[in-house]
Amino acid sequence: MPNCQETLKELETFLDTELPDARVSEIMSHLTECVDCQGAYEFHAELREIIRFKAQKEDLPEGFLARLVNCFGEDVLPEE
Ligand SMILES: [Zn+2]
Repeated sequence: MPNCQETLKELETFLDTELPDARVSEIMSHLTECVDCQGAYEFHAELREIIRFKAQKEDLPEGFLARLVNCFGEDVLPEE
């Protein structure tokens, strides 16, 4: 099973569903047993939902996306 560091490192790839199936089930089983990684996962997943929703429904304030990228890296942006 992957440890916390590995899980967090692969979280973004996991959310993009770009991981191989075997790796996905490993990460999943880590997430079900580790509260810390579960929290990080939910945070990232929610953040993506919010950004995706906002970007569709309304114009984001200027600089908002730039700030997000600064904080979380470009992986946080929805793919077009
Ligand atoms: Zn963990």
